[in-house]
Amino acid sequence: MTLESKTRQRGAILVIISQPMQTTLNAPISVSGIGLHSGSYITATLHPADCDYGICFHRTDVDDRDAIIPATIDNAVETPLCTRIENAAGIKVNTIEHFMAAFHGLGIDNVRIDVDGPELPILDGSAAQIVERIHRQGLCIQAKPRRTLVIKKPVEVSLDNGATARLEPADSLILDVTIDFDDTAIGQQHLYYHHDDGQFATDLASARTFCLYKNVEMMRQAGLAQGGSLENAIVVDDGEIMNPDGLRTPDEFVRHKALDCLGDLYLLGATLRGKLTTSRPGHALSTKLLQTLMAATDAFEIVDWSSAAMLGGNGQLPDTAVAAKSL
Ligand SMILES: [Zn+2]
Repeated sequence: MTLESKTRQRGAILVIISQPMQTTLNAPISVSGIGLHSGSYITATLHPADCDYGICFHRTDVDDRDAIIPATIDNAVETPLCTRIENAAGIKVNTIEHFMAAFHGLGIDNVRIDVDGPELPILDGSAAQIVERIHRQGLCIQAKPRRTLVIKKPVEVSLDNGATARLEPADSLILDVTIDFDDTAIGQQHLYYHHDDGQFATDLASARTFCLYKNVEMMRQAGLAQGGSLENAIVVDDGEIMNPDGLRTPDEFVRHKALDCLGDLYLLGATLRGKLTTSRPGHALSTKLLQTLMAATDAFEIVDWSSAAMLGGNGQLPDTAVAAKSL
């Protein structure tokens, strides 16, 4: 691990995850499309924001000065089908996870997202378009160090359906994700993802959300998935992929679950340094894991990036770093 910034170009893509300072967007970016659950046409405009602003959503369709909703674990509401946040005034926004994954995956600290509806546009069901727009616009490096949440002790949770999630110390952000579906088109899939410069854009960003056809009618009757179609989700029916063009990668399902995990982890308000091992992940499991972590105050530490870079996998400063500090 080096304390140096590793800013570099990969083709036309500026990749600056491991540089130590906070970042924001160079200029506003607007994206529009259908909301997966509401079916409404929605525009989200991503604005540059000051140091330490974090990620905040602003409901522009709500006539209320309290319509700002910070994307933090304190504001997370447990839902099985999407990530929902709600502020103290009861104003909510749904389906933020793919945008959050893009911010976490690209190393963006400060953004205000103006959204004119109750959820973010689903786009093609992945984070590809968000990443592409951000890459084209470029990022602005800011004057304060980035914060990193370092896992110091393991934390583990489970749900009654057999889903499990464990966070433990590691030298970098690692996702070890397993899914297991009865439908043979999905089956059991496993992904080991080591977060590094450019990794999110190449490995996870284009993986689309998915559902089982037999659940679509059920969701529609419950007022959900009104905007769902083969344009914005992979639909699986009894061993068959219904999308005419098939999958983008054979393991697109587990890649999308890893993308969702990365988005949910960013509700911690800092880039994570630790390993997440999870089986049958979902948004309710993520919320429980993060709430349990926040309650275990000795299990983590939030530090400036430069300090985090010196911490070993056990969350302790190595001897050489201690010696350097005492000089
Ligand atoms: Zn998703």
